[in-house]
Amino acid sequence: MTPMGVFGGTFDPIHYGHLRTAFEVLQSLEFGEVRFVPCGIPPHRGTPHASGSDRLAMVKAATAGQQGFVVDDRELQREGPSYSVDTLAALRSEFPLRPLGLIIGMDAFLGLTGWHQWREILQLAHIIVAHRPGWRAPDMGPLGELLADRGTHRVGDLHQSKSGHIYIHDVTQLEISSTEIRALVAAGRDPRFLMPDLVRDIIRDSGCYQAPDGDTGRR
Ligand code: ATP
Repeated sequence: MTPMGVFGGTFDPIHYGHLRTAFEVLQSLEFGEVRFVPCGIPPHRGTPHASGSDRLAMVKAATAGQQGFVVDDRELQREGPSYSVDTLAALRSEFPLRPLGLIIGMDAFLGLTGWHQWREILQLAHIIVAHRPGWRAPDMGPLGELLADRGTHRVGDLHQSKSGHIYIHDVTQLEISSTEIRALVAAGRDPRFLMPDLVRDIIRDSGCYQAPDGDTGRR
């Protein structure tokens, strides 16, 4: 059974950095599916700027038409903070035999030991760490040890077992960030070519990142 990638994030908004990462996992790791899971209430950062429904609409628009891309809104439906461990446990009971691979950026991986029940995560899934611009893999400390213990360079390991490996994947470096996109839009500038046009249309029509009171942010 081909592995399922589970790509959680605030996606506030989704951009080509996210999409290219997911696509490369699909293609080079030969995953059967990458599931985008927009989070409801992120436990480790502030409340998202756009509403859950706008973020979901943007993820759906961005992924439509790409075979293997699936959108899963379970974290938006759930009450309370969106813990990855809960999402993975639910997917594990729905797909008892399928390898699962939680996809996270290197920046997120470096904070892993602060995540709720982080050790359980590796019992439920593999972790695919997407190398993001500006971040290096740890070679010391708890995460360095974890990598020495669980790290693999073999794609086959991700297919042959259901969980437990950490795979660092070099993705094409696209230095795009949601924070910068929001700042750009709030300053009255056009985010075109950082994301699919359909996402840009939703940002424009909903006004979700507009500065309050018509302040364009220009100084
Ligand atoms: P910001 O870009 O403002 O830091 P974010 O994009 O990191 O926000 P999320 O939407 O939560 O916030 O990101 C979801 C996941 O995608 C995270 O694991 C993050 O590391 C990863 N990611 C985000 N941008 C990129 C990128 N340009 N290249 C590779 N991975 C990315």
